[in-house]
Amino acid sequence: MTSITKCIEQVRKRIADAAIRAEREVSEIQLLAVSKTRSANDIRVAAASNIFNFGENYLQEAQEKISQVCLPGLKWHFIGRLQRNKTQQVANRFDWVHSVDRIEIAKRLSMHRDIQLPPLNICLQVNIDDEVTKSGFKIKELSDTVEQVIELPQLVLRGLMAIPASKTAEIDQRKSFSRLRHAQAEINNRLDSRDKLDTLSMGMSQDLESAILEGATIVRVGSDIFGPRLKATTN
Ligand SMILES: *Cc1c(COP(=O)(O)O)cnc(C)c1O
Repeated sequence: MTSITKCIEQVRKRIADAAIRAEREVSEIQLLAVSKTRSANDIRVAAASNIFNFGENYLQEAQEKISQVCLPGLKWHFIGRLQRNKTQQVANRFDWVHSVDRIEIAKRLSMHRDIQLPPLNICLQVNIDDEVTKSGFKIKELSDTVEQVIELPQLVLRGLMAIPASKTAEIDQRKSFSRLRHAQAEINNRLDSRDKLDTLSMGMSQDLESAILEGATIVRVGSDIFGPRLKATTN
């Protein structure tokens, strides 16, 4: 067994244990393997353990790997900071974008998404701890933003995503995730049933248990699957 295979088993066990603590069905929680900086071969190894969803942060790196991996049934999620001049390629290469952090990006993704393709799944990124170094909407901006985004024809607004400030104590981690859960509930109160948000993309290697306890439906795990990141890549 390769170490990636073993690590995936361990992460799945953590997800299952957290689901039990949270009294949730484990099937509600999707594991997104964050493969930034990792090789196409590492992705194939993970796919052999029935990982079908992969997260990438850098367009150029992702494009190369998407064409190299070439396995049917994989879903690609863009989770990195998105520049406006990259929206056309991201809109058509990926199945999901978790990191929509301004309305202009949402409009451009919708405009560029090929009408032959199903609408692009998106999450709005929320700057949940109001950090100057992080992008994302403020909670109080969400209501107006949601109203505009649900009108965009080639997008499906699935939910909210956050990368909280790094904290070690579970109680502190849960506070940030709980804010995201409440923001989603408040939005859903006002949406028609067909528009309701079903996704909370939150939780990474360090804090996936806390995220699951607060309702995460997608956890994004990189280093605890693939090991420490190899190199910094850029766009
Ligand atoms: C890199 C990254 C992850 C994975 O982080 P790990 O700590 O390696 O699990 C998750 N989400 C986003 C947005 C990332 O950039």
